[in-house]
Amino acid sequence: MIIHKNFIAGSWVDSGSETENINPSDISDIVGVYSRAKNDLAKQAIAAARKAFKPWQYSTPQQRFDVLDFVGSEILARKEELGRLLSREEGKTLAEGIGEATRAGQIFKFFAGEALRIEGDIVSSVRPGASVEVTREPLGVIGVITPWNFPIAIPAWKIAPALAYGNCVVFKPAGLVPGCAWALTEILSRSGLPEGVFNLVMGRGPEVGQTILEQSEVNAVTFTGSFATGRQVATACAARGARFQLEMGGKNPLVVLDDADLKTAVECAVNGAFFSTGQRCTASSRLIVTRDIHDKFVDAVTERMKGLVVDNALKEGTHIGPVVDESQLDKDLDYLRIGREEGARLAYGGKRLNRDTEGFYLEPALFTGANNSMRIAREEIFGPVAAVIRVKDYEEALATANDTDFGLSSGICTTSLKHASHFKRNSDAGMVMVNLPTAGVDYHVPFGGRKGSSYGPREQGRYATDFYTTVKTAYTLPL
Ligand code: NAD
Repeated sequence: MIIHKNFIAGSWVDSGSETENINPSDISDIVGVYSRAKNDLAKQAIAAARKAFKPWQYSTPQQRFDVLDFVGSEILARKEELGRLLSREEGKTLAEGIGEATRAGQIFKFFAGEALRIEGDIVSSVRPGASVEVTREPLGVIGVITPWNFPIAIPAWKIAPALAYGNCVVFKPAGLVPGCAWALTEILSRSGLPEGVFNLVMGRGPEVGQTILEQSEVNAVTFTGSFATGRQVATACAARGARFQLEMGGKNPLVVLDDADLKTAVECAVNGAFFSTGQRCTASSRLIVTRDIHDKFVDAVTERMKGLVVDNALKEGTHIGPVVDESQLDKDLDYLRIGREEGARLAYGGKRLNRDTEGFYLEPALFTGANNSMRIAREEIFGPVAAVIRVKDYEEALATANDTDFGLSSGICTTSLKHASHFKRNSDAGMVMVNLPTAGVDYHVPFGGRKGSSYGPREQGRYATDFYTTVKTAYTLPL
């Protein structure tokens, strides 16, 4: 089998060690063999990026537009093939895989345009005759560390703005999904980028990731992943004064009020909680429902869940693919046990399933009778498991929604403009949805959360400039 190598200073580099990328829908299917880098290659990649930054920081917006537009166009032209690779290695359905690949292409196209729109200010000085210019400049070398659950979209929304604003990149993808990272790198390798501007190093987090955090030549680290790893990123970067940005977990509430349109509420809950196998940081894992609609809502959600097809991600008609790997499946099953022990009722699902191909299949699970202090309502499970929490009225629903260590996204289903408006203003989350699932966002507007979910400037949209550039204020007195 071909070994997919690391990409450093414009060349494909082997490490002498490799891993197999296994399809979670069919563990007999090896997606590919991928090189596994150690610290030495991470250091080489960082040195290559540092060297490349000297000229690349002065590249023209047109040069950067051309690179990003090329990458975006190729991803869009190959979205079916890349979507299939994504579904095969991560386990989300083919439709979801193609949707994510499309989004990655759109993100590159968006930031191609942003490369042309880097603006500054000219301000009158308070001193006679002088003028002030405020401009944005690139930071230098950006370490990009990504999770497994969005194998192409998350790398895209970090790499595209980093390059658009004139930075160099060292990219370390999650170990479970090297396929999409490598495919994206292969496209970037033909995009016209000078050698060393973009580098891929596939390897273990505590090794390659940690090296990126600790090397003084890395000016900033953009990280998406778990809260625990985010803490380590913060500690290491803060210790050496590097800029960092963290996107971490969620425990996102979907509030359903008595006046909600029942069909809309059920669709929002099922989509938000279970699609992509519940493996989304924006998944609705807490369904907070007021008392008069509670029973109708639970019955309708349960009915809808009975129609969900859990099967091989690549099979036509599959609604929910497998869990990403065995250890995540064990974690999901553990939380199903914990929920029952805590006194919640497993109203539907939660069984491990067998299918034609051997994979990590789990029936989506709905708990009822949960309360907000249970572990299943406080800790991120990151699987197809949701808990219904019954509340008296809107005020209790809002208080329960905000009573969490996280604050990524939140949602409300209601036909009351008064409650929708109040919720948008008072929900303690970075993203708020009205009559829409908590998961599923546009690619051209800011993405991020509050409290334990995020740290630092927002990602995506034009707000990305805040992280990927540094501001210079220049004063001139013409003589
Ligand atoms: P993870 O924290 O285990 O790994 C994330 C990345 O960090 C991986 O590339 C990993 O190799 C690397 N890493 C691990 N240890 C490291 C270290 N010591 N130093 C540097 N890098 C290290 O997370 P995961 O399991 O891949 O992803 C799931 C998590 O990601 C969930 O908590 C989910 O909520 C979160 N997530 C958040 C968002 C968001 O935008 N808020 C989006 C997607 C996923």
